Amino acid sequence: MSRTTASAPGIIAPHPASPPLRVLLLGGTSEARALAEALADRSDLAPSVSLAGRTRNPLGYPIPTRIGGFGGAAGLAAHLRAEGIDLLVDATHPFAAVMSANAAEAARRAGVPLLALARPAWTPQPGDRWHAVENLAAALAALGAAPRRVFVALGRNELRALEAAPQHHYLIRSVDPVEPPLALPHARYILDRGPFALASEVDLFKSHGIEVILAKNSGGTASAAKLAAARALGLQVVLIARPPRPEVPTAASVEEALAWIDARLHARSTPPASARRGV
Ligand code: NAP
Repeated sequence: MSRTTASAPGIIAPHPASPPLRVLLLGGTSEARALAEALADRSDLAPSVSLAGRTRNPLGYPIPTRIGGFGGAAGLAAHLRAEGIDLLVDATHPFAAVMSANAAEAARRAGVPLLALARPAWTPQPGDRWHAVENLAAALAALGAAPRRVFVALGRNELRALEAAPQHHYLIRSVDPVEPPLALPHARYILDRGPFALASEVDLFKSHGIEVILAKNSGGTASAAKLAAARALGLQVVLIARPPRPEVPTAASVEEALAWIDARLHARSTPPASARRGV
């Protein structure tokens, strides 16, 4: 493709600037917000973000935001085509397995390059007492039959499963209220949103006599303090392993995702070698 156009006989004018690259982020994580902030002021990009709509008052994004499901992979593929999306970045939570599978399928169908932004999983450190399990049912089994004092850091949609193990005393933290409350004889609720600090997590666990932490291996820094607090207090952590993800190009950090987007921009503005050779 030529980079110049003739505006009048004998005069070569620069090619009009390429339109900004339309980048859709699938969000709902602190990494998605950080990426949105990094893209917001770029004139060579037109970023937007999609949220599932699970959180009542989601923290705002500095880019156009749409809220709600697409209607499966087919719905997302149709959205990508209708909006003329050039790049798709799946920056959903590592446990948002359905959305990530849909993103891979939709990107394939619509022919849109896809990048997953997936923070690395947490790995145990000296002093950790982790019990890794495959899913929530296995996590409840790992808590055992005897009553224990359990700190729960799960998504609101997953909490009903705790009703299968009513013998424990649960301290449940969530961003939005758990409504209706769980059918459990011993459940206390706290509302809070990360990031959390080590000192306050230690205080929280001590003041409630917590014996075990029930959490997912989400990775990242915003909610890692509970693991450090458990380590400091010698508490057991029952940690649910991540679900499998589709095999797609993956960035482990916001910086890597930015580099991928820039490489795509660069590829668009660089004519293929055959064109440069005049073939
Ligand atoms: P999921 O089970 O993988 O997805 C279920 C459905 O929710 C999807 O099929 C899709 O509906 C819709 N959806 C999910 N993410 C969406 C997005 N970013 N934009 C539009 N629709 C979306 O998802 P989930 O685990 O419930 O997570 C929902 C949201 O919460 C995601 O944004 C995720 O990043 C965030 N989040 C999840 C967790 C977690 O532990 N799972 C933790 C923190 C934050 P359609 O099929 O109709 O398109």
